[in-house]
Amino acid sequence: MPEKTVSNPYHIAQNRIRTAVDKLGMPDDVYERLKSPDRILEAAICIRMDSGHLKTFYGYRSQHNNALGTYKGGIRFSPDVNADEVKALSIWMTFKCAVVGIPLGGAKGGIACDPRNMSSRELESLSRGYIRQVGCVLGEKMDVPAPDVYTNPQVMAWMMDEFQSMYGGRYEPRVITGKPLQLGGSPGRLDATARGGCYAAREAAKTLGTETKGASVAVHGFGNAGQYAAILSEELLGSKIVAVSDSRGGIYNEKGMDAQSLIDHKKNTGAVSGYENSQPLSNKALLELPVDILYPAALENVITAQNAPDIQARIICELANGPITPEADDILENKGLIVLPDLLANAGGVIVSYFEWQQNEWDGEETARRLERKMIQAFKQLNEYQKIKENVTMRQAAYMYALERIVETMRLRGWGEFV
Ligand code: GLU
Repeated sequence: MPEKTVSNPYHIAQNRIRTAVDKLGMPDDVYERLKSPDRILEAAICIRMDSGHLKTFYGYRSQHNNALGTYKGGIRFSPDVNADEVKALSIWMTFKCAVVGIPLGGAKGGIACDPRNMSSRELESLSRGYIRQVGCVLGEKMDVPAPDVYTNPQVMAWMMDEFQSMYGGRYEPRVITGKPLQLGGSPGRLDATARGGCYAAREAAKTLGTETKGASVAVHGFGNAGQYAAILSEELLGSKIVAVSDSRGGIYNEKGMDAQSLIDHKKNTGAVSGYENSQPLSNKALLELPVDILYPAALENVITAQNAPDIQARIICELANGPITPEADDILENKGLIVLPDLLANAGGVIVSYFEWQQNEWDGEETARRLERKMIQAFKQLNEYQKIKENVTMRQAAYMYALERIVETMRLRGWGEFV
């Protein structure tokens, strides 16, 4: 098979559903019902750039399934965004919400652009233009976006505001989550994905009979999730950060590096490389370090059949969506490494989005406490389920567990007999 097919995230997501359907002995109709998103909107967004010229960007919103509740999922700004990627990510949202037991469906959006080379004015125009084009399928009871790769609370604020303008000024803050606090955002949403991942890593370490105190940590991708993973691994887990990388390369210090000063360095210089008392390290080498915990926190398909044989981390906690290909999964499984699947490991983000969508009362501490409870519960349930099912990986268990919930709900709604 050509590499493109093998690494197409949409095909990967479909194959994972297929495997779960087969392992559960469910009828083919289940796969037929879930293999494609319910709806996908593609938009050309034409904005004026600072140069004075017009430029057209392509954006998408994919709504996969809303059996469990309102469509829900982030919007990413990234150069490689395309329809298939967004479709895959929307499938993963459906399954993720089901795994952690929140009553939401799955959706995802994205715009192919490089926000690193755009001014704030251009980004605002793009964000507003996107909402003007896809806002017709959004709404607090319809489809609720949130941040994802390279989008942040400011982008959410522009989008919420544009949505309001579209509907004659109707105030509807629940149309989007991950908003700034002043606009009804939830304290604790910014670090939620990483925090949830740290709780999952801690629970996984317990099952291995080890502790995370003093554990060595490598972070691949130093954006929002990666940076908070570094901070919280120190704070919550007592672990030490020995390596981090971003798109320009990585750095290493076996004695450990201070997470906050790494973040400051990245803010000041634009990259992690050049950090004091560290050795340069390629992204490839970072992934292959013999660390206790590895957080892939960038994009899809970074651990593949090519590098999987060289991966040595004891626990791999998928903060990114889809960082490990199915072929790599098999290799890691045979090596006896623990893979905490994205459907569980990065669900902290959408869990706190759910909190934000529901209420506006809890402070950061309360939010973190409730997130912790949900993550521990989800981890334990999945762990139990995996044992009962026998001979399935934690990822397969996650798909199967989610699938049972989704199918049961679809049956109750009368969406099909599934024969
Ligand atoms: N973008 C995040 C994810 O992939 C969060 C989605 C949300 O909060 O709705 O899970």
